[in-house]
This record gives sequence, structure tokens and C-alpha cells, in this order.
Amino acid sequence: MTKTKCKLCVIDLNSKTEKIYHKDNMCAVLDTIDKKGHCNRVMVMLLRHSEFPTQLEERHCRKMLRIVCNYIFINEPGYWIQEPSRFVSIPNHWHIIASDERKFASDSVQLSKTPKTWFSI
Ligand SMILES: [Zn+2]
Repeated sequence: MTKTKCKLCVIDLNSKTEKIYHKDNMCAVLDTIDKKGHCNRVMVMLLRHSEFPTQLEERHCRKMLRIVCNYIFINEPGYWIQEPSRFVSIPNHWHIIASDERKFASDSVQLSKTPKTWFSI
């Protein structure tokens, strides 16, 4: 997949319709379009098109995601952060997804097989 066809690279991060919680020169944290049955499901994406963030980039992205999650999931007991896995629909542009725990979420089977970490609020 080339950069011009990448679903993440074509997101308009200045759009008023996308729900963007954070953006800087390295990453953006925004709502995922498909909530997959969750009330809240957000992702942090590396701004540059790469499968492999530097250590500095990855640390920064994870930090910004957690800051946003602590705000978004304030009424939840916590949230899951899914590690990049074979289930991701966009495998060649690094991003990670965080979601609340909904028993009947459409991705609950997939989620149960995905490496992930629980963060308590
Ligand atoms: Zn991309």
C-alpha cells in the first residue's frame, strides 16, 4: 500500500468533522470511525507514514494516547490499549487503538485474541 492510498495518511486532521483530541508534529489522537460496539474507541497514529516508529516517537505517541484516554474514559473503570496485531486493517502505518470494555462489542472475540494492556482509571 502506497502513502497516497493509505487510509490514515488521507485523514484530514484539520477537518471539523473528525473528532481530534490531540495533534502535534509527531502524532494525532482521534476517534476511530468504526466504534465496533464500544462507546469510546480512539487511536493514536504516527503522522508520518511508517510501520516502525522510533523509540522516541513511540514513547511520545503512547504518552499522548494515555493523556487523552484518562480524559475520555473518566466514567469507565479503565480501558484497553491494543497492541499492533495481525487484526489491524491498516498494517503499514503505525497506530494503536484504545477502547472501553463493552461485553457485546462487535470486536469482543477479536479483542480477546489481541495482545492488549488494561489501564485502570
Ligand atoms: Zn499512511
